[in-house]
Amino acid sequence: MCYYLITYCEFRCGHHVPTRRHYLDCNRSVCKISARHKSFEHNCLAECDQEMLVDQHLVMERDRGDCDACRGVTPATVVEGANGHSDSDGSGAENSGVDE
Ligand SMILES: [Zn+2]
Ligand SMILES: [Zn+2]
Ligand SMILES: [Zn+2]
Repeated sequence: MCYYLITYCEFRCGHHVPTRRHYLDCNRSVCKISARHKSFEHNCLAECDQEMLVDQHLVMERDRGDCDACRGVTPATVVEGANGHSDSDGSGAENSGVDE
């Protein structure tokens, strides 16, 4: 049966954050959802899988930090304090060597 494979990033805090969603076709002719589903006339209801498999979950990467939620950061928000952010003061740039 066809299904969605959802990949996750596992953070130090133990939370899994979804990163990608892949559609996987089982390529079986007896699957109604598959692209290979037989095109000729047949008793589809009796012969073929009619539904997708439940979503499959897989941890693909690990992050040594905490997830956004645990860091108090709202996802899809631009991180502040990045390089180039200057004050209205303008008296001097703070080029104190940023460690990444
Ligand atoms: Zn399928
Ligand atoms: Zn069928
Ligand atoms: Zn977390």
